[in-house]
Amino acid sequence: VQTTLKRDIKFVGTGLHSGRPARISLRPAPAGHGIVFHRTDVTDRDPMIPARFNLVSDTTLNTRLQNAAGVTISTVEHLLAALAGTGVHNVLVEIDGPEVPVMDGSSRRYVRDIFGAGVKTLDAPLEAWAVRKPVEIAEGDVLARLEPGAGLVIDFEIVFPDAVIGHQSRRLDMANGAFARELSDCRTFCRRSEIDFMHSKGLALGGSLDNAVVVDGDDVLNHGGFRRADECVRHKMLDALGDLTLAGLPIIGTYVARRAGHGPTNRLLRELFATPGAVVRVTVDREMQSRLPGYALSFRDLAAAG
Ligand SMILES: [Zn+2]
Repeated sequence: VQTTLKRDIKFVGTGLHSGRPARISLRPAPAGHGIVFHRTDVTDRDPMIPARFNLVSDTTLNTRLQNAAGVTISTVEHLLAALAGTGVHNVLVEIDGPEVPVMDGSSRRYVRDIFGAGVKTLDAPLEAWAVRKPVEIAEGDVLARLEPGAGLVIDFEIVFPDAVIGHQSRRLDMANGAFARELSDCRTFCRRSEIDFMHSKGLALGGSLDNAVVVDGDDVLNHGGFRRADECVRHKMLDALGDLTLAGLPIIGTYVARRAGHGPTNRLLRELFATPGAVVRVTVDREMQSRLPGYALSFRDLAAAG
């Protein structure tokens, strides 16, 4: 069945890229509503932005959505990952600025507060997108692929020249509390050498060692280093779950990514829905739901994420 939150959740924080503060409220919403952003600071145009893949307008170091009126919301992926990872299907996200707050650079705070508020089941069947035929995006050494599967599996591989990141790969069945336990505390990261360039593009203006891991060759500049030895690939998996949530319904299939990111994942979703017979809309029965992210999430899953 579909779910929503039991009560409102509020956060205040700073946008990673804009550096602008924002207040955000997650509000319970009825069945069939999905996840929709409401820019409460916009009064002269349509302020509603549904979390849908076809509204993605930019994927440079974050995922940005834009509605038909040109109203945007940036850096939606870590919040969407938290909602998907806790199995929340319907929520109205009110926000008074152009970018979702980055918090500590991971989804940990969002997941904890969603768990704290509680997830309410609604009297309406849940539907999902079941992948029926493989589709892929291959661009040089970048690959993003969706294959049929029994639940949602994310299989990710990254290669960086920096010795402290290097080659990392991980495959994770996203059922139940796996996201909260294995990925939700993993922070966004960047290379020190890229910071000046990002600033020149108006990106990462709110970035600091409090909300991102900064690597420099063999070193991690953050006090305490990584939270997990392979925190970087796990964060890429967190991003992938958030970006896949833009399908509008949970995906049943295996996502395989090599050196991919926000752009390839979005192009893959567009390819999936443009390919006849690649995906079908199915009603999720109890047994199928037990294999989806967030089902039977427990406090032990949160405790495992520190
Ligand atoms: Zn991210």
